[in-house]
Amino acid sequence: MVTNGAAPISEDDIKLSVAIIGAGPAGYYTAEALTTGKPGVKVDILDKLPTPYGLIRAGVAPDHQSIKNVSKRYAATNDRENVRFVGNLSLGQDITMAELKDLYDVIILATGAPTDRPLGIEGEDLDGVIGSGAFVGWYNSHPDYADLNPDLRIASVAVIGNGNVAVDVARILAKTANEMKDTDLAAHAAEAIHKSSSIKDIHVIGRRGPLEAAFTPKELGELNTLENCVALLDPSQLPPASGDADLSGAVKKNMVHLRAIAENTADDTKIRLHLMFYAQPVGILGEGRACGLTLEKTILVDGKAKGTGETEVLPTGLIVPCIGYRTSPIEGIPYNTGRGIFRSDEGRIDAQTYCVGWARRGPSGTIGTNKPDGIGIAAKILAEVKGGHKEGRVALDRLIAERNLHVVTFANWKKIEAAENSAATNGAPRLKMVDVDDMVSIAES
Ligand SMILES: Cc1cc2nc3c(=O)[nH]c(=O)nc-3n(C[C@H](O)[C@H](O)[C@H](O)COP(=O)(O)OP(=O)(O)OC[C@H]3O[C@@H](n4cnc5c(N)ncnc54)[C@H](O)[C@@H]3O)c2cc1C
Repeated sequence: MVTNGAAPISEDDIKLSVAIIGAGPAGYYTAEALTTGKPGVKVDILDKLPTPYGLIRAGVAPDHQSIKNVSKRYAATNDRENVRFVGNLSLGQDITMAELKDLYDVIILATGAPTDRPLGIEGEDLDGVIGSGAFVGWYNSHPDYADLNPDLRIASVAVIGNGNVAVDVARILAKTANEMKDTDLAAHAAEAIHKSSSIKDIHVIGRRGPLEAAFTPKELGELNTLENCVALLDPSQLPPASGDADLSGAVKKNMVHLRAIAENTADDTKIRLHLMFYAQPVGILGEGRACGLTLEKTILVDGKAKGTGETEVLPTGLIVPCIGYRTSPIEGIPYNTGRGIFRSDEGRIDAQTYCVGWARRGPSGTIGTNKPDGIGIAAKILAEVKGGHKEGRVALDRLIAERNLHVVTFANWKKIEAAENSAATNGAPRLKMVDVDDMVSIAES
C-alpha cells in the first residue's frame, strides 16, 4: 500500500508512464524497482546506443567477463510486459527534455557520467593525452571511440590515477594476445595492442601514497600475475612494515600485494609496470603531440597531497588520465558544475524529473551501489508523484514514426547480440560491433 495523493491506494492500481534515460545499471535497477508488483507502471528505457547495459558493456574490462553477467538480471527486467528498451534514441539529439515531459508522467535521468574530468594542467589538449572515458571506450568497442586510433608505437605510457580504472587501463595494455583471447577486447584494440604496440614501460601514477590508493585488492594483485609484464615499486615508497598489523580491510590486503611487488626486479624481456606514488602531474610537454609529463613530488598533509616544488619529467607519448568523470549537461536541467552532476534534492530535480546512478551521485562505487540508489528513487517517485495521465509509450511511438527514427527494441538488440556471439572465435564470448548503422541494419533485418 502506498499513499499517492489524499487516499491510500493499492500498488496494483498505480498508473504511471515513466521514461528512464540511460540503459545502464542505474536505469535497470530503477526500472526493476518501479515495476515489481506494479503492472500499471509502464517504463520505457531509452538509450542513445542501440545496445543496452551502459558501462557494463562499454566500461567494465573485457577480461573481467564474470562481472558482465549482471546484465542477465537486466535482461530479465526487460522481459516484463511493462518494461521496454528503446535503443538508438538520444535525449538532446532525437528528442528534447520538453518533449519527454509532454509524453511521460515522470522522466528519470540515468545518463551516467561519460565525460572525462580534465586534469587542469597545461598541455592536456595535446595529441596523445586521452582521458580514460575515451580510452576505455576504444578498447571496449563504444561506437563513439572506435576511431580513436591511439598511437601505441611508443616506449612509455603514463596512466594517471590510483583507482581500478587506472589498473584496468594498465593491465589491458600489458596483457598478451594469449591472455586476452577469451575476452571481448575490441578487434581494433587487439590489433593495436598486440601487433603494433612498442610499449615497454607503463607508469601508474598517484598523488598520494600506498595507504590512500583506491585500488581493490583483487585488481591490484592481478598486476603481479601477468604473463609478459613485471610490476615494480620502489620499496622506499612503502610505509614501515611494522605498521601493517594495525591496517585492516582493503588497505591491509593491498599492502600485502604492494610488498610483494616491491620485491620484484625488472626483467628487460618483459613490459615494466611501475607503480609510482607521491607524484602529481603539473604539465604536459610537447608540440602538437605529448612527449613528456612533468611530475611534482608530493607529501601528505592532513591526508591531502601537497606539492613540494621538486619536479621531474617522465618521457611518455601516451598519457591516460583516470581521474573521474562528469555527467553531460542536458538543456533545461540544473547542473552542479563543481561536482559534474545534475543538481537535485536527493534525486528529485523537479516535480516531474528525477536522476539516479552516476548522474545523481557522481562516478563512484560499484555496479551494486546503483541498486539501492534505484530502489530509493523508485520509492521516492511512487511516494511523491500524484497519479499519472500521460500517454507515455504510445505517444513516443507516434513521435518515432513521425521522425522516422530507427530505434532498436530489446528483441532487435537480441539479433545484434546473436550476430556478435556467432562472430566470436577462439573462446571469446562475442566480437562486438562498433558501427551504429551496421547494428541498426542487423536489428531491422
Ligand atoms: C572503466 C570502468 C570500469 C568499471 N569497472 C567496474 C567493475 O569492474 N565492477 C563494478 O562493480 N563497477 C565497475 N565500474 C562502475 C560501473 O560501471 C558504474 O557504477 C555503473 O555503470 C554506473 O551506472 P549508470 O547507470 O549510472 O551509468 P552508465 O553505466 O554509464 O549508463 C548510462 C547510460 O546512459 C546512456 N546515455 C547517456 N546520455 C544519454 C542521452 N543523452 N540519451 C540517451 N542515453 C544516454 C549511455 O549510453 C549509457 O548506456 C566501472 C566503471 C568504469 C568507468
